[in-house]
Order: sequence, then C-alpha cells, then structure tokens
Amino acid sequence: MFYEAQKLRKSKTENHKKSNGDNDFKGYMKCAICGKAYTYKKTPYNVYWMCSTARTKGKKYCKSKQVLDSNVKEEVVSILNTNSFNKNEFIKKIKTIVVHKSNKLVFELIDGTSKKYLWEHDSRANSWTEEMKEKARIKALDRNKGGI
Ligand SMILES: [Zn+2]
Repeated sequence: MFYEAQKLRKSKTENHKKSNGDNDFKGYMKCAICGKAYTYKKTPYNVYWMCSTARTKGKKYCKSKQVLDSNVKEEVVSILNTNSFNKNEFIKKIKTIVVHKSNKLVFELIDGTSKKYLWEHDSRANSWTEEMKEKARIKALDRNKGGI
C-alpha cells in the first residue's frame, strides 16, 4: 500500500518535470496556413517549432516558417508579465498560439483578447557562430552513421 502511494507520487513528479521541458507549447501552437499543429524540433543548440505539414510532407505543401522556442517564450513572458516563463500562468491565460505568414504570431488569450507579435527574421544566422555550426555538422554526421 505504502509502496503504491510512493510510486504514484513519483510518477506525478515526473509528469511535472516533463511539462517544464522543451515542449511546453505542444498542443497550443497552430499553423495559420494549413491549420495543422506545430511540432517541436530540437537541434543541438536550439528548439524550434515547425508546422507538421511542412515537416512531414515538405515545404511544398505548407510555406510556413519555423519559430524559435525562445522567441515564443520571450513573448509569453511579456504578455503574462512574469519574470520568467511560467507554465502554470501560461495554461491559465493563453488558449492558442497561431503562427501566421510574415513572421507573425498571434496569441489568443482565454479572456477573448489576442496579441500580435512579429519575430525577427532568421535569428539563427545571427546567433550561430561558425564553431557552433561545425559542431552541429559533426554531430549530425555521427547520428547518420549510427542511424542507418
Ligand atoms: Zn502549415
């Protein structure tokens, strides 16, 4: 009995940990072009959100752009007026994040209002140094070797 209760508590803690991970916006982000969900994509240095159509079928089927996770988080922090990203506040106040063309995000709030945000184009090019690119390239090569 005691053991069962402990196990339950443990799995609850683990769920909580997961919710603070990289996929905080899972189920919240939507593509304005094709209507499909945005899914998260992790690279060695960044986390992106990308339309599932563009990801699985290719850019030919959906010309949406990927968004940096940190850009979305930054904006959520400013909308919610918190010091850092707060998942609980996010769930309480934000309903959907719609990714439009021209680098536009629209945050639809539970209270019926919405907020627009334009993110910087191609921030990856500015933040990635040559060294980081090289490391990522080597890592990708390693993965390919082991994968097939
Ligand atoms: Zn799409």
